[in-house]
This record gives sequence, C-alpha cells and structure tokens, in this order.
Amino acid sequence: MPHDDFPAGSVWLVGAGPGDPDLLTRKALRLIEAADIVFYDALVGPGILDPIPAATERVSVGKRSGRHSRDQGTIDTLIVAAAQIGQRVVRLKGGDPAVFGRTAEEVAACNVAGVPVRICPGITAASAAVAAAGTSLTLRGVARRLTLVTAHAQAGAPLDLDWRVLADRDATLGIYMGRTAAATVTQQLLAAGRHPDTPVLVVVNASLHDERIIRGRLSSLAFLVEAISASDPAILIVGEEVGTTPIAAPVRLREAARQ
Ligand code: SAH
Repeated sequence: MPHDDFPAGSVWLVGAGPGDPDLLTRKALRLIEAADIVFYDALVGPGILDPIPAATERVSVGKRSGRHSRDQGTIDTLIVAAAQIGQRVVRLKGGDPAVFGRTAEEVAACNVAGVPVRICPGITAASAAVAAAGTSLTLRGVARRLTLVTAHAQAGAPLDLDWRVLADRDATLGIYMGRTAAATVTQQLLAAGRHPDTPVLVVVNASLHDERIIRGRLSSLAFLVEAISASDPAILIVGEEVGTTPIAAPVRLREAARQ
C-alpha cells in the first residue's frame, strides 16, 4: 500500500542511527528513498547515504561539534525554503533526532512557516554503545535512572550541570560530546561524591567498522579519552551496570562473517 505521509512541500526529521546502515529503520529508509532533497549532518556516514537515489539532491550541512558548519539558523532556513518550493524534504540526523539534535528549532521553524513537519526516531548513540559492549544502560535494583547529558557547553560558558544529581550512585550517565570535557566531568562528579571506582565505558564510532570500546573507572576517565581522535564521535557512559559482566564471549558478528 502506498504511504501518504510524505506529501510534496513537507519535511521529515529522520534519525539515521549511530552509523551502521543496518541500524536505519525501515521507515527511515522509505523516507530517504521518497525524498526530493536530503540535508544531512557530518555524523551521518557514507553507508547511510548510499540508498539515496541518484536523482535526489544531497546537501551536507556538516554539523559537527568544533568544526566549521552551517549555523542552525541557516539550516532552518534551507529546509523551510526547500519545502516551500514543493520538495519532499528529509533532514537526516545522526542517532535519534530527539537527543541533542536541535530538533526543536527545526520543528519551530517549520511551524512558523506553516510547513508540515514530522519526526522519525532513530537509535541513539548511548543505546548503540552499550549494545556494542554487551551491557545495558539500566540494571534492575541498581541503576534505576538514565540521564543523557551533553558535556558540550555553549561557547565560552562553563558546564552548567547539576553535579549532585548526576553523582547519585543509581544514575547512569550517557555523556554526549564529552571528550574534551572529560577531565571537568570527572572532577565535578568526584567532587559531588560519585565513587572514583564507578565503572565507565567509552565507545568510539559505535556500530561502525572502526568501533572501539574502552573500559575503565571514573578516576581514570580523562586519561582514557586522551587516545581518541577529535574527529571520531565518542560517547562516555558512567554507571554501575557498565561494570557488570558483559555478554560472555562478545561475538563480533561482522568480523566473524568476514573470516
Ligand atoms: N542525535 C545524536 C547525538 C548528536 S550529538 C544521537 O542520538 O546519537 C553528537 C554526539 O553523539 C557525538 O559527539 C558523540 O558523543 C555521540 N555519538 C553520535 N554517534 C556516535 C557513535 N557512532 N559512536 C559514539 N558516539 C556517537
């Protein structure tokens, strides 16, 4: 049955997931294939762009922390303008559009312009990271709260987080854009009473072929991230459950398939 959820002149904000094209939802794929134009972020990898039909316009809006990219206002203007000339617009975002994705701004811009806009969720980096490590974001009776935070402050501003709340033993923290602020995060969490032996997990390029999983303790977090290149996305997970035994023998399916 044909879908009627993508009329000309409308916008879909689509979650591309963490990078592995297999982690795109079927709906995301369908929308990408139906679009006239796709605006995509730097974190959206090449494998994800492959299914875009050759005739579809592709526009990189290059959003990546610390790099030259189009500012949010320009992106809002571009997607609205494309819809206003009658194009079916996909705005493809890394992970889930609802997690540190500036989705509210884009939805607001569409609303103001009277352009219909909808959201297709995606798999967020925190989910992909713990899946890669064979562990979980919550642990029954121990890690009962999941807090997703960004450690990327607005230019010049200090990290304005409620460290006392984040230092609770039962809170798991998924820290996005946390590489450069790792030392501050550690210092603040320890000062607020989080135990230095709290397990931490750093996952670089989660779900991609060059994925790296680094395990350690909160006291050494700043040291653990030192080896990560600034151009690779990395997520930090802090919490009791990431120290629990992972899947007995993590099977790297894709690697196994290659052998
Ligand atoms: N909307 C995205 C997050 C955007 S913020 C999501 O839901 O995942 C960008 C940050 O997400 C990066 O700096 C990094 O901390 C994290 N991230 C995104 N993709 C990642 C990946 N494949 N591996 C590890 N971290 C990732």
